[in-house]
Amino acid sequence: MTSLSDLPLRANLVGKQPYGAPQDPVPVSLNVNENTHPIPEGVVADIAESLAQAVHGVNRYPDREFTELREALAGYLGHGLTVEQLWAANGSNEVLQQILQAFGGPGRSLLSFTPTYSMYPLLASGTDTEWIAVARPADYALTPELVVGALREHRPDIAILCGPNNPTGTPLDREVILAAYEAFDGILIVDEAYHEFDAQRESAVALLPGRHRLLVSRTMSKAFAFAGVRLGYLAADPAVIDALRLVRLPYHLSALTQAAATAAIRHSDEMLATVADIRDQRDRLAAALVQLGYEVHPSGANFLLVGGFDDPAAVFESLRAQGILIRNLGIEGHLRITAGTESETTAVIEAIAALTPTAR
Ligand SMILES: *Cc1c(COP(=O)(O)O)cnc(C)c1O
Repeated sequence: MTSLSDLPLRANLVGKQPYGAPQDPVPVSLNVNENTHPIPEGVVADIAESLAQAVHGVNRYPDREFTELREALAGYLGHGLTVEQLWAANGSNEVLQQILQAFGGPGRSLLSFTPTYSMYPLLASGTDTEWIAVARPADYALTPELVVGALREHRPDIAILCGPNNPTGTPLDREVILAAYEAFDGILIVDEAYHEFDAQRESAVALLPGRHRLLVSRTMSKAFAFAGVRLGYLAADPAVIDALRLVRLPYHLSALTQAAATAAIRHSDEMLATVADIRDQRDRLAAALVQLGYEVHPSGANFLLVGGFDDPAAVFESLRAQGILIRNLGIEGHLRITAGTESETTAVIEAIAALTPTAR
């Protein structure tokens, strides 16, 4: 039988593990930060109608510039953004990959502050970009001093600030973004995958004017309840968008993806109607776990990083056996839990409460 080690794999991929959160068909799936609420029926019908229309045209390639979708995204983001400042791809993971293809690569580097999104180092190795991990402090919060020090020391070609940060939930302050931008002359990405859950905070999109090296990435996978469609997007200077056109595959967004996403944005209020409830469930989960004696890190997202588990792997497996999937990211003593619907949140609280006398 052939194994990976028999193949002439690129040296920088040897020994790497693929991204692989479990996809068990369990009743309570709270491990990949999806919006667990279904899309409202009326919206489903309108999206289906748009898809049906689009199918009539699939003998032709789709609009390579996906202009209608970019117009919709510009309208959704506001801040006076124009179509030329918008880009999209199959998930923000693909957007990030395109950024690394254009601005990273052999001899170049990507810096971020760990623990952070596990895809960043994988995207770096996939594009042969050096990965520089700088540790966050004990409370995971970034400060201008920490970020400026790291950027001046390492001078990366690209830096990513994730806010709110996955997997810690930590919000990202505007002062940190501004200080980072001034501290080096590379590409600064702010990954706002969870921004809609932190609605009190102004988006980094507001900082774009006059900052051509600032890139703000977003996704429809989380608050928008659209993970299955694969649509991530970016707001940046039009010159940055031109750079991404050099590396994107022709017609990378299918006619069906464009139709579904454009239709969903027409219904953004209904699509986002569950966000307030998810935040309430997150806060209820946090209060219950603190009551049980766990350490809950402040979160601006739809998930919590929870510390105080003597044996996180055992807790993870015990919940999995009960049909509840959460996330073990290998952070000592910690597990990450997505806030779901009221009944899902109750299920995870009850399961952890039942384990607590023995697990702690
Ligand atoms: C989930 C997530 C993404 C988005 O992924 P998609 O490819 O858009 O589904 C991006 N960044 C972070 C930090 C995430 O947690």
